[in-house]
Amino acid sequence: MDSYILENIKLIEDRMAKACKEFNRDAKEVKLLMATKTVDPEKIKLALSSGHTLIAENRIQELKEKFLPLQEINHINHFIGHLQTNKIKELLRYEVTCLHSVDRVDLAEKLQARLERENKTLEVLLQVNTSKEESKFGVDPMDAISLCRSVAALRNLKIKGLMTIGLFSDDKVKVEACFKRLASIRDQIKEAQIPGVEMNELSMGMSGDLELAIKHGATIIRVGTAIFGKRSTPDSFYWNEGAKL
Ligand SMILES: *Cc1c(COP(=O)(O)O)cnc(C)c1O
Repeated sequence: MDSYILENIKLIEDRMAKACKEFNRDAKEVKLLMATKTVDPEKIKLALSSGHTLIAENRIQELKEKFLPLQEINHINHFIGHLQTNKIKELLRYEVTCLHSVDRVDLAEKLQARLERENKTLEVLLQVNTSKEESKFGVDPMDAISLCRSVAALRNLKIKGLMTIGLFSDDKVKVEACFKRLASIRDQIKEAQIPGVEMNELSMGMSGDLELAIKHGATIIRVGTAIFGKRSTPDSFYWNEGAKL
């Protein structure tokens, strides 16, 4: 039986509630996104039966494979992986409503061109590399505002906020610095009042560090392992060299 999944979700809900209370956050402002890479559709369906509707994949191949099996159950698809431009068509075909990983102008422009042709819009978050070590992806914090201005000029992309992967470390101070950095970039961008840009979402925090992310303003936490258990594929496959495949 996979009932541990629903039990794990309850534990996450408890952690979220506790962190919101501790850090004076409105619990309604923090959404749980279930990171479903390597998880099969049956387990995902069970997780969705918890009432949480937000799920996300890292790779187009998995998005594609799970698209039909998940059709029958209500859910919302975000995409949290590195996106190659030759996968844009598929991203749109499989009904992703928000892309968390816009980190370069080239990608944004190609998305815009495709969206225009299909007469669609897409919500996006700008991925910022706040840790340097953890992932090769994400815009350098110094260049985030400039990327934001460029993407804001593309009419079919709707900027909703920022995303980051915090440093994987037992050193809470260092992890926290990543989340603080993202919040401060959010503030800078807000101050710049760039037309068409909303900065209401901060996608940050995972199984191990969601409390710290909530402390610094996360509105979407992305949780995989703590719900579905350990993955056999190493994260480097998704975050660095593997993404080139
Ligand atoms: C896998 C993944 C997560 C979830 O990580 P866990 O440590 O399993 O909770 C969050 N964000 C991204 C971008 C991921 O690839």
